[in-house]
Amino acid sequence: MEVLYQSTRSTADKVTASQAILKGLAEDGGLFVPDHLPAFDHTFAEFAEMSYQETAYHVMKLFFSDFTEAELKDCIRKAYDTGFDTEEIAPLAEADGSYYLELFHGRTIAFKDMALSILPHLMITSAKKNQVQNEIVILTATSGDTGKAALAGFADVPGTRIIVFYPKDGVSPIQEKQMVTQTGGNVLVAAIRGNFDQAQTGVKAMFHDKGMEQELAAAGFQFSSANSINIGRLVPQIVYYVYAYAKLLQNEVIARDEQINVAVPTGNFGNILAAFYAKQMGLPIKTLLCASNSNKVLYDFFETGHYDKNRPFYVTSSPSMDILVSSNLERLLYWLVGQEGVASCMEKLSGAGAYEIENEVFDRLPYLKSGFATEEETAAEIRLVYENASYVIDPHTAVASKVVRKYKKETGDVTKTVIASTASPFKFTRSVMNALGEDKPEADDFALADALAKLSNRELPQAVSDIRNAPVLHDTVCDPEEMPEVVRGFLK
Ligand SMILES: *Cc1c(COP(=O)(O)O)cnc(C)c1O
Repeated sequence: MEVLYQSTRSTADKVTASQAILKGLAEDGGLFVPDHLPAFDHTFAEFAEMSYQETAYHVMKLFFSDFTEAELKDCIRKAYDTGFDTEEIAPLAEADGSYYLELFHGRTIAFKDMALSILPHLMITSAKKNQVQNEIVILTATSGDTGKAALAGFADVPGTRIIVFYPKDGVSPIQEKQMVTQTGGNVLVAAIRGNFDQAQTGVKAMFHDKGMEQELAAAGFQFSSANSINIGRLVPQIVYYVYAYAKLLQNEVIARDEQINVAVPTGNFGNILAAFYAKQMGLPIKTLLCASNSNKVLYDFFETGHYDKNRPFYVTSSPSMDILVSSNLERLLYWLVGQEGVASCMEKLSGAGAYEIENEVFDRLPYLKSGFATEEETAAEIRLVYENASYVIDPHTAVASKVVRKYKKETGDVTKTVIASTASPFKFTRSVMNALGEDKPEADDFALADALAKLSNRELPQAVSDIRNAPVLHDTVCDPEEMPEVVRGFLK
């Protein structure tokens, strides 16, 4: 049965997959959700025999109903190619009693590559299918990783432009260098004086600005989003959970039908939502662990039913999780409380900044557990995993790893656990070296990366060596209120 997409907030008309990918957001400001979740049409034993690309095809075809086989396979082939430094695309590393699913082997060494390497191809294909003549302008707010991954995905893709806003002091030096050195004639990178939520709010305001939309259309442009709210990003993320399960089966780590636990370091709730969808579709997941850093708005929500963004904002060593409004949570809410419930919660969120749902609602989610790790715990976890297994993890991964450690200790649960490893330690070198007691304040990030390569017995990733001597091409800095002017200036 064909999967169509509808808004999380109202029962307005359904759209096809390609239309949902093009639009990004629904007309009413809601997010697109599939009208039903398809079932896998292969057994996990069959998935175990497949390459990453084959797995991707057999998972994504279930959601992208209006793509032909040739179209989807073409998108997959272009996305999961030699831009990844391993044929496995998403290898599993066993260390210290867990299985780290390494989602950082793409062009920008973080998990956003898993979806953003395919999104541009899904978008162009969608545009062709819908006779769209306008140039597509990707407008994105980033807390670090999305920005570079989107830039790398869209740079010089014909028929697209890409504009990325990031918080000036909210990303790591290597993340910033990655972005401001981005080449491509269709690319703009701008820093804002503010935090990620302000950048995201500014981007959302432009998406909802009807006047700006008409102005752009007259000039032959239309906005689309590469943020994790796009269904074209969510669906490719389901793939690697299926792939990881199948690999565990193939390697006889688990028996047929054996359940696993999955832990995900969470910010915008996209990655873990993909795992939730995989479970709903039949992937044998027993416990889904949602891990937060000190910005533990999600932990508090799952503990109390009370979502409240009015709280201090902490800049942590895991900046991609420094988020107080987790956009994709809306899709889980839709499943929990339906469209009317979502509409009411979102209205309260944009008003008072808080909403509450009844605790009984969580009875439908007994398998979802949440936890958080403080900065001290995160650093200690990096050190501990290294001491126990000579394996170096980045701070985001360490947050989830610590939450797993606490969960195991509290529950005695010995279920085999997959931890989504969302960034290479080379992306957050200083925090990692600091945690390992190897920080040298006088050394620059590249010198530290060399030292980390020695210590971790890993090669320096190409993504780091490439930007080492690359020239800075983008130096725009603006206030949040100036974002629309920056966009207009670029599109003139
Ligand atoms: C984006 C990101 C996350 C958070 O993922 P969400 O899908 O936003 O929850 C975690 N770690 C890293 C390294 C990221 O880039």
